[in-house]
Amino acid sequence: MSDRFSFAVNARDGQARTGVLQTMRGDIRTPAFMPVGTAATVKAMLPESVRETGADILLGNTYHLMLRPGAERIARFGGLHDFMNWQHPILTDSGGFQVMSLGPLRKLTEEGVTFASHIDGSRHELTPERSMEIQRLLGSDIVMAFDECPALPATEESVADSMRRSMRWAQRSRDAFGDRPGHALFGIMQGGVTRELREESAQALTGIGFDGYAIGGLAVGEGQEAMFGVLDYAPGLLPQDKPRYLMGVGKPDDIVGAVQRGVDMMDCVLPSRSGRTGQAWTRRGQLNIKNARHQDDPRPLDEDCTCPACRSYSRAYLHHVFRAGEMISGMLLTWHNLHYYQDLMGGLRDAISQGRLNDFIADFHAMRAGGDIPPL
Ligand SMILES: [Zn+2]
Repeated sequence: MSDRFSFAVNARDGQARTGVLQTMRGDIRTPAFMPVGTAATVKAMLPESVRETGADILLGNTYHLMLRPGAERIARFGGLHDFMNWQHPILTDSGGFQVMSLGPLRKLTEEGVTFASHIDGSRHELTPERSMEIQRLLGSDIVMAFDECPALPATEESVADSMRRSMRWAQRSRDAFGDRPGHALFGIMQGGVTRELREESAQALTGIGFDGYAIGGLAVGEGQEAMFGVLDYAPGLLPQDKPRYLMGVGKPDDIVGAVQRGVDMMDCVLPSRSGRTGQAWTRRGQLNIKNARHQDDPRPLDEDCTCPACRSYSRAYLHHVFRAGEMISGMLLTWHNLHYYQDLMGGLRDAISQGRLNDFIADFHAMRAGGDIPPL
């Protein structure tokens, strides 16, 4: 079906696995973390800088791009890769998640969702067919099926109804996607935190047949324990030989726990968003650069990090530019955060290859438990 899209698992350690997803635009080493380029940019980063952090693939948002600048316009400029100057793989979401978050601004029917743009109030419609068309116009390498993600808390009955609608939409997405060699279509498992519903969803999706499978409906406020509870069994309900993608995750310890449970791909705005609000993620956990303790500190964020922010700038400088509202603050902290996330993924991949994932995870938690370096 997709003759230039393939996935190979090279090593396993417990439930965790490492491998390579091959696409027309290059290889994606798994487990992979995908930075989010919401509006055709990873905020505060040049695409070549994102690449330098070690990212093999970016995520683009159908909802945002269809509203501004419009999928047809991007197609006229040769697709999203050319438009944003990123020639490596791109995964686009289906728009479903963002549309559902619009609350009263949207209307849901069996056909799809109509909604008012958050930008200018104009009316739009998203259906499985339109979502497939938009993602084709964008030229994304990995296309996501159009689904509904119910807002939690929700009754089990409404989660079940929503999951079954998503499975009907998954079939419509598959039909509308057609045969596009070199491009992959991923289905999305739903079912909230109820095992029977997750099983029913996995069965429906594998019956339709996809190039990869996402675990949706998590990281929506249920908490890490409930999320890991689902991840203890959900990856095992999906085909062993296809990639598994956990959408919208997460913090570094969420990522480590998900990889340990058999997840191959993740995305999250967290490293880039935190970079713009003065939050840095390091091996020692999270720190806030605006705190006064950094204002006379000549040391880097992390002396062992090789990113430009840590190689050439002190905590005192990063503190100053954040306080002064200078753009370089968001640029340097985002770079560091993305670099840290990719470093973490590289460490996980190596540990799985070498069969020492448990030791790696123990070190990861021990280092964080020690907290940030003490103030001078
Ligand atoms: Zn750094």
